[in-house]
Amino acid sequence: MNRQKSPTDAARCPLCNGLNHCGNLTSNDQPCWCMAEDVVFTQNLLQQVPASRKHKACICQECVKKNQNVRAQGNEQPDG
Ligand SMILES: [Zn+2]
Repeated sequence: MNRQKSPTDAARCPLCNGLNHCGNLTSNDQPCWCMAEDVVFTQNLLQQVPASRKHKACICQECVKKNQNVRAQGNEQPDG
């Protein structure tokens, strides 16, 4: 029994395997955090998702933020 198939696969980030806290998976009526205006899924970020997991699992908030920070550093001074 090596199979590690879990029903919560869609709840795991394809980039870091952490929980993505996707609002679409929860039973409450709150919209997913990814609907917030300051959350941007860049092409660069989406390209990092393995093809086998595309459209199956959401990227987690942490990975989105990390990617945004990397981009921001190119244009703006970091907070300090
Ligand atoms: Zn992640």
